[in-house]
Amino acid sequence: MCLWLSVAPASAQAPEILLEATRQAGDAPRPALPRDGFAEVREAMVRDQVVARELHDPAVLAAMRRVPRHRFAPDIEPRRAYLDMPHPIGHGQTISQPYIVALMTERLALAPDDRVLEVGTGSGYQAAILAEIVAEVVTLEIIPALAGGAAERLEALGYTNITVLEGDGYYGHPPRAPFDAIIVTAAASHVPPPLVAQLRPGGHMVIPVGQMGWVQNLLLLEKASDGEVSTRNLASVRFVPLTGGH
Ligand code: SAH
Repeated sequence: MCLWLSVAPASAQAPEILLEATRQAGDAPRPALPRDGFAEVREAMVRDQVVARELHDPAVLAAMRRVPRHRFAPDIEPRRAYLDMPHPIGHGQTISQPYIVALMTERLALAPDDRVLEVGTGSGYQAAILAEIVAEVVTLEIIPALAGGAAERLEALGYTNITVLEGDGYYGHPPRAPFDAIIVTAAASHVPPPLVAQLRPGGHMVIPVGQMGWVQNLLLLEKASDGEVSTRNLASVRFVPLTGGH
């Protein structure tokens, strides 16, 4: 069961909890998603858009075969949700192209016991993909209506290992830190130092960095056990901007 907590609205450091993970050790790891008639469409999406572009992580492919992407883009015709493109989700924001979701998820090098932080919940699709693979997901969204919509959707689908927070993700979420992996799905002008601080040594972060309106660099950061951070560029991408108070 998921709880809706009503907490006083909040500063950047104290985001409001819209959905709280309730999963206990021993609970089923994933929800039994409804049979929806889109399994073949998802299979084709995985084959033609993900595997065809040389992404092969079995856990990521399995997650993308399971999560009903059309439920996260409710304003478009369901089959179109599976096309090789991003889609608008309202408030000037987008749900990323399936391939980009797969690429970012694979590069996080996730393990089943991991706790992952996402900045930029949007529709909640990326959070659901992560929740299929890891033990716990904490996701932050700055636009209240999107945060609320994603929390409702993820709860309705039966996810019990996702916490949805409304707030400025630039500052991460210190109460649940450190995170084994961090994924930022909006483009920042720089890598937020609070997020680097909240990444566990040995962990990976994927984040688009660059100027708005231009192509950005999708960066992979790896924090070594001594805390040293190395960075490499994975791809050129185009994301909506990371907003907020910083
Ligand atoms: N991961 C999403 C796509 C997100 S689009 C999905 O799967 O649908 C990027 C999102 O980042 C938008 O919803 C935007 O409102 C949010 N965002 C932008 N700046 C933010 C910030 N500082 N903190 C949290 N969320 C932010």
